[in-house]
Amino acid sequence: MKLSLIIPCYNEEEALPTFYAAVCKTLEELQEYQAEILFVDDGSTDKTLFLVKAYAERDPRVKYLSFSRNFGKEAAMYAGFCNVTGDYAAVMDADMQDPPELLKQMLEILEGGEYDSVATRRVTRKGEPKIRSFFARGFYKLMGKISDVDLVDGARDFRLMNRKMIDAVVQMSETNRFSKGIFGWIGFKTYWLEYENVQRVAGESKWSFWKLLRYSMEGITNFSDAPLKISSWSGLFFTFASLVALLVVFIRALCFGDPVAGWPSTVCIILFVGGIQLFCLGMLGQYVSKIFRETKKRPIYIVSEKNIDRK
Ligand code: UDP
Ligand code: MG
Repeated sequence: MKLSLIIPCYNEEEALPTFYAAVCKTLEELQEYQAEILFVDDGSTDKTLFLVKAYAERDPRVKYLSFSRNFGKEAAMYAGFCNVTGDYAAVMDADMQDPPELLKQMLEILEGGEYDSVATRRVTRKGEPKIRSFFARGFYKLMGKISDVDLVDGARDFRLMNRKMIDAVVQMSETNRFSKGIFGWIGFKTYWLEYENVQRVAGESKWSFWKLLRYSMEGITNFSDAPLKISSWSGLFFTFASLVALLVVFIRALCFGDPVAGWPSTVCIILFVGGIQLFCLGMLGQYVSKIFRETKKRPIYIVSEKNIDRK
């Protein structure tokens, strides 16, 4: 059986040597598997690619793909899935936050034949900024309510899957990618393995707060149409509310006459409704821009260098 590891790397020169050593050590314990380590260099501007090439020269198990620019982790993972040849494949971060030691246990579970994938989730968010944990938790709660996929709080992208599942992920060739949602959407039987959060060994997280916020918006608009429903319902609500208000004003004018007044309140109401209209229009725009990007059918990533000959 062949095991493929997919490692998206973006400016990971500091963490890469530790990671590579740890993976080699783990693979030594998994001698019964033929291995393939696919580094996907996501347009790094440091020595990442140089390091990877050096590993590839010494180690025939090391394969690499290098993108023409930074396409993001989602694109890097997809490139990995498209290019691995293993019977099993796992995505792993290059910063040791996905402990390679877990692979052994994950393989054992898959070999049992009952599950198609083994996913990991952090049970703690130790070492993460408090505000980040707070918003992350909120996001998972919200997604659970409004989307058509089940997202697990603390789920990582680190997950080992069998060929059936890899092929299914490859089929999901959408431009707007949100892997956590995609893994959930394609189904299959998943075993959840829990572990304590591990901090990155070197370098810095590539995710700023705003980048994460944008990513969560991506998740919502990719897997839920709740925002569209909210705008329809709020539209309906305001229509009814205004009808009732109209009736009240009309009757009051008939009974008590109509002294010209209420200019400030009128302006407030106009501004309020205008604001809501723009907000709803903006939400609609989010979906339209998704359609726009999707219809252009641009490639998800562009490779500039590689040492494998698949697409
Ligand atoms: N990564 C990538 N492209 C990007 C950003 C990140 O390939 O544009 C890789 C990065 O090299 C790492 C993994 O994705 O291997 C996770 O990134 P990071 O550790 O910064 O994220 P965090 O663990 O903080 O969520
Ligand atoms: Mg990390």
